[in-house]
Amino acid sequence: MDLRLTVLGSGGIRPDTHRGGPAHLFSAGSSHLLLDAGPGASRALKRAGLQASDLTGIAITHRHPDHMGELLLLLELERLRPRTKALALLGPGLLDEYLDFMAAWGRDEPRKLPYPVVRHLMPGTCKLGPMRIEAMTVPHVQGSVGYRVDVGKKRMVYAGDCGPGPEVEELAKGADLLLLECSLPASGHTAAHLAPEQAAEIAVAAGAKRLLLTHFPPDYDTELAVEIAKARGLCCQAAHDGLQIKI
Ligand SMILES: [Zn+2]
Ligand SMILES: [Zn+2]
Repeated sequence: MDLRLTVLGSGGIRPDTHRGGPAHLFSAGSSHLLLDAGPGASRALKRAGLQASDLTGIAITHRHPDHMGELLLLLELERLRPRTKALALLGPGLLDEYLDFMAAWGRDEPRKLPYPVVRHLMPGTCKLGPMRIEAMTVPHVQGSVGYRVDVGKKRMVYAGDCGPGPEVEELAKGADLLLLECSLPASGHTAAHLAPEQAAEIAVAAGAKRLLLTHFPPDYDTELAVEIAKARGLCCQAAHDGLQIKI
């Protein structure tokens, strides 16, 4: 089966001229899972030749606006070309409050979406077509999760925003392709985000075959970040919008 990762948005929360907000598309044959719905996701999806109604599921890592700012737009777009199959919506519990608020905002009555949505509360597991999905808690903000997606013997892991910690190494274990955020400059340190050295250490500890760094702030030195990871013996590259990787 054709397994592919398409980078729809490789930026972070700050607007960038050439990077959209966090949005990554994992495709297994005709099943498509959108991982985070950052600003610009629907436009990037269109550029990748797809539209909202082609999505099998949307998986949200946490309730920060750069990761779910465009979720409502994607859900609304479905009205224009309603789907027949249900949309799977994966994410932490806090997502529901946000969706309820947005559905009711400016209206007397909350509107129901005209298509079925199957809600999967995360952390947890679920199956979407050929994908077996497991979400685990990662250190960032309350309720943050990262996703591990297995198809046959292949594994793709997207940790979302996270700081370093054994939880992330566990999530990333044995990944054929590991997507890690890289929002801190080299040698930077906070508990809630990763610098390139920390991302590389996680990838090494997890035995990941390939590391893709993403979630870059504007004017980030991606070459240095990749060099740092390669110096640790990793196969590593920096994400850019539109990049496609076969797994
Ligand atoms: Zn973020
Ligand atoms: Zn965040």
